[in-house]
Amino acid sequence: MPDDRTVNSGAVTNEASHALAQRLRSETRGDVLFDDASRGRYATDASIYQIIPLGVLVPRSDDDVAIALDIARDLKVPVLPRGAGSSQCGQTTGAALVIDCTKHLRNVLGVDPAARTATVQPGLVLDHLNAQLKQHGLWYPVDVSTSAQATLGGMAGNNSCGSRSIAYGNMVHNVLGIEARLSDGAIVDFGPVAALTGRAAQIADFVRSLAAQCSSEIVANWPKVMRRVAGYNLDIFDNQSERPYTSDGSVNLAHLLVGAEGTLAFMKSLKLRLSKLPRAKVLGIVNFPTFRESMAAAQHIVKLGPTAVELVDRIMIELALENPAFRSTMESALIGRPAAILLVEFSGDDKATLLPKLKELVALMGDLGLPDSVVELADDKPQKNLWDVRKAGLNIMMSLKGDGKPVSFIEDCAVPLEHLADYTDRLTEVFTRNGTHGTWYAHASVGTLHVRPILDMRRDGATKMRAIAEEASELVRAYKGAYSGEHGDGLCRGEWIAWQFGPRINDALRAIKQHLDPIGLFNPGKIIDPPRMDDASLFRFQSASGPKPYKRIPIKPVLDWSAWNVHADPVTEVVTAPGSGDDVTAGFAMAVEMCNNNGHCRKFDAGTMCPSYRVTRDEQHLTRGRANTLRLAVSGQLGPDAFTGDAMYETLDLCVSCKGCRRECPTGVDMAKMKVEFLAHYKARHGWTPKDRLIAKLPDYVRAASRFSWLLNLRDRMPALARFSERRFGLSARRSLPQWRSDTFWRAADPSLFATREQTIGAKAVGAKSAVLFVDTFNGTFETENALAAARVLKAAGYVLHTPEKRGSHYCCGRTYLASGMVDAAKRKAGELVDALLPFAEAGVAIVGLEPSCLLTLRDEALVMGLGDKARTVAKHALLFEEFVAREVEADRFELKLRAVDRPILVHGHCHQKAFDAVSPVLDVLRLIPGAKPELIETSCCGMAGSFGYEAAHIDVSLAMAEASLLPAIRANPGAIVVADGTSCRHQIADGAQRAAVHAARLLESLL
Ligand SMILES: Cc1cc2nc3c(=O)[nH]c(=O)nc-3n(C[C@H](O)[C@H](O)[C@H](O)COP(=O)(O)OP(=O)(O)OC[C@H]3O[C@@H](n4cnc5c(N)ncnc54)[C@H](O)[C@@H]3O)c2cc1C
Ligand code: SF4
Ligand code: SF4
Repeated sequence: MPDDRTVNSGAVTNEASHALAQRLRSETRGDVLFDDASRGRYATDASIYQIIPLGVLVPRSDDDVAIALDIARDLKVPVLPRGAGSSQCGQTTGAALVIDCTKHLRNVLGVDPAARTATVQPGLVLDHLNAQLKQHGLWYPVDVSTSAQATLGGMAGNNSCGSRSIAYGNMVHNVLGIEARLSDGAIVDFGPVAALTGRAAQIADFVRSLAAQCSSEIVANWPKVMRRVAGYNLDIFDNQSERPYTSDGSVNLAHLLVGAEGTLAFMKSLKLRLSKLPRAKVLGIVNFPTFRESMAAAQHIVKLGPTAVELVDRIMIELALENPAFRSTMESALIGRPAAILLVEFSGDDKATLLPKLKELVALMGDLGLPDSVVELADDKPQKNLWDVRKAGLNIMMSLKGDGKPVSFIEDCAVPLEHLADYTDRLTEVFTRNGTHGTWYAHASVGTLHVRPILDMRRDGATKMRAIAEEASELVRAYKGAYSGEHGDGLCRGEWIAWQFGPRINDALRAIKQHLDPIGLFNPGKIIDPPRMDDASLFRFQSASGPKPYKRIPIKPVLDWSAWNVHADPVTEVVTAPGSGDDVTAGFAMAVEMCNNNGHCRKFDAGTMCPSYRVTRDEQHLTRGRANTLRLAVSGQLGPDAFTGDAMYETLDLCVSCKGCRRECPTGVDMAKMKVEFLAHYKARHGWTPKDRLIAKLPDYVRAASRFSWLLNLRDRMPALARFSERRFGLSARRSLPQWRSDTFWRAADPSLFATREQTIGAKAVGAKSAVLFVDTFNGTFETENALAAARVLKAAGYVLHTPEKRGSHYCCGRTYLASGMVDAAKRKAGELVDALLPFAEAGVAIVGLEPSCLLTLRDEALVMGLGDKARTVAKHALLFEEFVAREVEADRFELKLRAVDRPILVHGHCHQKAFDAVSPVLDVLRLIPGAKPELIETSCCGMAGSFGYEAAHIDVSLAMAEASLLPAIRANPGAIVVADGTSCRHQIADGAQRAAVHAARLLESLL
């Protein structure tokens, strides 16, 4: 019986919600987020569902959690614990108070290397734990694909499973204890049952007697596969899993909370069982001519004792080949054009003992009629690259444009290996009958294949989803598998728990919930009393029949988003022509909707994305947070004018337009471009500030201003002037500004360096060794020597150079205008530049630039400004200085004698160079210097990002970004030459580390 304190999420009044926010603000030290935009950002996980929470608490400490639970209990408000929110089934969405553990509750509380255990807080990310364990030769082996963002609390909540579960088991096999708060506030230590006392022992007795009461149903109905994560683990007292939960057959009560999806208790800390880090790994990639053969082979391959057998099918292979970040890695794994590949990994203590395993695999495939089908990878780097592609599998698949998307609801059914081939065949037939198809990938070793049929949830997706789910569940039953094999139940599979286990076990699960959480405080509607999977009111994209149909607000975009405004055929995945969709925002909203909430942007690895999240750890300052806010705004869910409102501005304010997401977001969410679109609309409504004008119009006034350099440079020498510039223009008084000089490139350039400085093209221009030097505003005005250095190097290497000049001014790409949202002016500028460069491009002459953000504008934004084919022609010939040199070296045309260097060289890649894969040419070119061993600093954005770091409002965030890795790496190498091609990167390095960084062209010139 529910008692009178029972929480009812549907009945939380506005008053209770208001009181909740007030009390959280006054009684906790956490961030209390109750505004519409924040709630909207926490309304989704990586599923198809969306439920707006009552509010969000980001606790500063565990005490904040305790206080929040007390307040929630008082006010009868439900609570939803949250990690990275990367769940695929909707278990991390709810009309509750969301408590986000990721910002502060992320410490390793202790490691016992001898006992091989670690105790951690729930918000700690798996990769971060493993980074700390490496020194002990240990790791936590539940290696989920989302290891860079998934938290240990979330992983335990879902009973997550990694690619190597065949060797190490799931979460439930690797959790030794959980300290958790119950809904009455009691802290209970869940651990080995034999040692339990007090409340924990009572709970164990209760569950034991429940299990005993339905022991025959447990034996009869419980799926016997290892990959079963549905419901609560009632079988802890009578293990039904292929792999026992404990190695000694004992019972551990913590396993009851594993997979409970936050419905039983709030985890405070977890004690984890660690494994020895394998010292060596080898990988065999088996290429199959047909998909069925790959499925049929899995049962034989597992007998060789691999640590992983993972499937990548043809569609995913093709998608990886299309993705510039993955293409070469994928190519290296293929023999011909396979229909599927299996990644078969063996690990152990040394490579020598593993290599024969690869030979056994080759022999086995020969026996199975597939000789010469294995690519053998013994080196670590290529293996890691391939695993990265496999881990990005789902995300690669989600990059499909159009309204139809691969939907997860039967994506992790598990069947015994001997039935895998038949199961996949028959499910494929189900898809075909329902007018769709699915891409298969993942854990062939344990019979859990991920597959997501393509459905359009705005149209008939829900009906098809239901029909497919019904048929898939029957197949799973026929093959004695588990309907929920990895990602949990949540909203999409909760409904099937009773189906899987039968009514008696379902009642027992309800009794467990009642016993541990009698007031229903924790995550209501999950596992117990779940809604229908196709309840239209819960969808992120509701169809016309839903209570709140998803509608886009008409917007006339300033950039061309037509590439997203398309339809995709759900069976063939053929995408219609750009602009052929029916989006009233001409593709902008569809580009925004590409974010599927997988949370990949919550990362801290060697990539760039997302620098503002890296320093704030706020959901708002994350690519996903921004995309969600944009989606809610352009669909009217934050009010009619939200797209140009202040909440939207604040959400995009710390986006440094680094373009990290453009390359690293697996679905290609390009927030830098979206920010330009937003700023144009926002500024059109609210007006431009003096700072906007000062920055945007820089290219127009530099020529005149440089005549007064001595006067303008006083700003950096007189504190009063610096303070004035802060008050008037918002430029931080703590920052130095670029130094003005009268000898700009256009005044000082040595005429003998160039064959032409006109927008003309003579016969000489089309020679094999010719190039156009595009001199941008920054290098041309503030660092003339960079442009001259590039010209001298190219001249010394025998190139005929051109640099088209504009009478009385200079050509500019329009970047400063874009950064201020003045898109019309940017189009004019870029249009002029494109016109000036077009004759050269048409003649096949390379256009060489120095400043990454300016040159790469020609390959990026200029293509969506409506400049047509001429912009595309110019883009094809636009190269950064090092890209050009590397290309010419490759073509055997570049001859240059350079003196040697005897100092280390550190290289910082500009974010846009990284986004366009243009960093390795820098290293290649520096390697032309005798004795040079250039080393790339692993950095995200330097934090300067155009004018961002100069602004008083951003200087602290800017410096924090620089301190994350760039400045410490430079300080740690006092004798090194620092190469940085970005103007603002060099400035940040000078300001932050008091070191002069140089453009690569300058370094080469100094060695001529
Ligand atoms: C692209 C992609 C790939 C994926 N690959 C895998 C994979 O390989 N293997 C796999 O198993 N899963 C995978 N998943 C699913 C998901 O990433 C994992 O389940 C992950 O472990 C969830 O971690 P999280 O921190 O995001 O948890 P969340 O989504 O934030 O939370 C998960 C559940 O745990 C509960 N919870 C969180 N913290 C607490 C706490 N302190 N106390 C009580 N309950 C809590 C939540 O309420 C929720 O019910 C994948 C998802 C995506 C999008
Ligand atoms: S922005 Fe990209 S990386 Fe981030 S959650 Fe969305 S799709 Fe994933
Ligand atoms: S452009 Fe950079 S800062 Fe902006 S969202 Fe993308 S990764 Fe983050």
